Amino acid sequence: SAESTAPENDLSYVRGSTHLPLRYMTIPQLLREAVSLFGPREAIICPQQDIRLSYYEFDRAVDELASGFLAMGLEKGDRIGIWSPNRYEWVLTQFATARIGLVLVNINPAYRLSELEYALNKVGCKALVTARAFKTSNYLEMITTLAPEIADCEPGRLRAERLPQLRAVIVLGEVSEPGLFSFDRVRTLGGPAQQLRLPTIEAELGPDDAINIQFTSGTTGHPKGATLSHYNIVNNARYVTDRIALTESDRLCIPVPLYHCFGMVMGVLGAVSKGAAMVFPGEAFDPVTTLSALEAERCTAVYGVPTMFVAMLEELDRSPRNLAQLRTGIMAGAPCPVEVMHRVMERMHMREVTICYGMTETSPVSFQSFTDDPVDKRCETVGRIHPHLEVKIVNDDGRIVPVGVRGELCTRGYSVMKGYWDDQEKTVEAIRDGWMHTGDLAVIDEQGFCAIVGRVKDMIIRGGENVYPREIEEFLFRHPKISEVQVFGVPDDKYGEEVCAWVVAKPGASLDGEELRAFCNGQIAHYKIPRYIRVVDALPMTITGKPQKFIMREQMQEMLKQD
Ligand code: AMP
Repeated sequence: SAESTAPENDLSYVRGSTHLPLRYMTIPQLLREAVSLFGPREAIICPQQDIRLSYYEFDRAVDELASGFLAMGLEKGDRIGIWSPNRYEWVLTQFATARIGLVLVNINPAYRLSELEYALNKVGCKALVTARAFKTSNYLEMITTLAPEIADCEPGRLRAERLPQLRAVIVLGEVSEPGLFSFDRVRTLGGPAQQLRLPTIEAELGPDDAINIQFTSGTTGHPKGATLSHYNIVNNARYVTDRIALTESDRLCIPVPLYHCFGMVMGVLGAVSKGAAMVFPGEAFDPVTTLSALEAERCTAVYGVPTMFVAMLEELDRSPRNLAQLRTGIMAGAPCPVEVMHRVMERMHMREVTICYGMTETSPVSFQSFTDDPVDKRCETVGRIHPHLEVKIVNDDGRIVPVGVRGELCTRGYSVMKGYWDDQEKTVEAIRDGWMHTGDLAVIDEQGFCAIVGRVKDMIIRGGENVYPREIEEFLFRHPKISEVQVFGVPDDKYGEEVCAWVVAKPGASLDGEELRAFCNGQIAHYKIPRYIRVVDALPMTITGKPQKFIMREQMQEMLKQD
């Protein structure tokens, strides 16, 4: 309700309404509830895999898979990674792991060798569910490079030097190679004994148990594993879909990646909490297949980052579609240009589209517009605070600033993560007194609408993917010829921002951009590889030796304009 979303005492502090109580429940309980209420209704639709499952069928498949995991010897609390683009098996894995208390570890499908090795070892994954390949990347080849021992082991009995904790690799699709389980085989492994254990295990799960680790790029070097509980994500998912008034009659199209909270929490858990149908148009976003799915499946809602909506609008100009059923959706992850918002509302028929702001560490959403907010508010702000949360905007001294003044956005409440996995130092740095310090600069107005105006943290948002310069700088430093490197973002029409690196070569060494890009290929995710690389004699520095990224950015923008 509006009464509790306006700031108090002219200060930038807002509190969400408490009318709808938080639900102290687990993910398996959420699915059981959906099955009892909506059993025969469609749950999962995956046209590219020729899959259509009702809530009943979905639930049965989850039980089979969960008992298969038990038969493999996986136990509550064990970590299990998933490295796959969007497929229906991703969703089964999400619920089967939750049903027996395994901690699902989302691994970005764009990750390459060095990132995969780091993620699996950091949280000690015992098992990995993986696609064979994705686009031009052969995942199995990469796994074999990291764990050549797999060729000579029984499935489930891996002992690999570089991945010491990993025991089992489960592959989506056909498998002929030794050492691997196929996903379908795991679904048949569990016998009556395991099936019988399911209710007991489920009864012992607690809503505050860790259930999911999502890697977010680290401001300092390596990605960090944001660890979330059932309680965190079950509640956020429900409040997100409350705002778009999702019900069991809705058909939600999810072209956003499942490894990200946008897909698995706001999309999948959000749909299940309302009994809505989920439509997965394909392994990765593509404007043509997404529009075809919207039309053919008569979707009523769709999610995306602004870049995806831009691509869909361009495609609609080329070939019109009937999107008369479309009503609402969510645009999040990056600022949405006003003109894009207008066209989405008109051309895509999404008059009730909302904007969300959030971050992985807060499960994720903390601000969202209402479907009937004035259009200008939906363009210029990220809406009003979510239920049961508190937000304050603070200055450098940690004091709450007056309404209308910018400062760092901090969030407190049920949605704040448990912490970063095995990283106490980073956790206490990020969460102080229960407040998650987001690193985003924001302003709150008299009515409680929030606008994101910049970043305290050094981060680039490229097409909705967050890129932390520090991580790329540290990776490039491994190159033997580099003496100094600075990475920053430059504005880009298509992606919002593009990654740019300035490097200084070691004395006597010669370097070029191609060589550095080749060095990154296959090792780090494609979207992190600098699009522009400039080799310079020296970097612009302050007197105290601090590199001045804003000068590099200005010069680079000038140079790109001239090109
Ligand atoms: P992630 O943890 O990947 O969800 O990324 C979270 C970050 O994305 C936030 O800290 C913001 O910097 C940015 N972000 C998310 N939503 C928005 C939005 N609607 N407008 C501007 N930036 C956003």
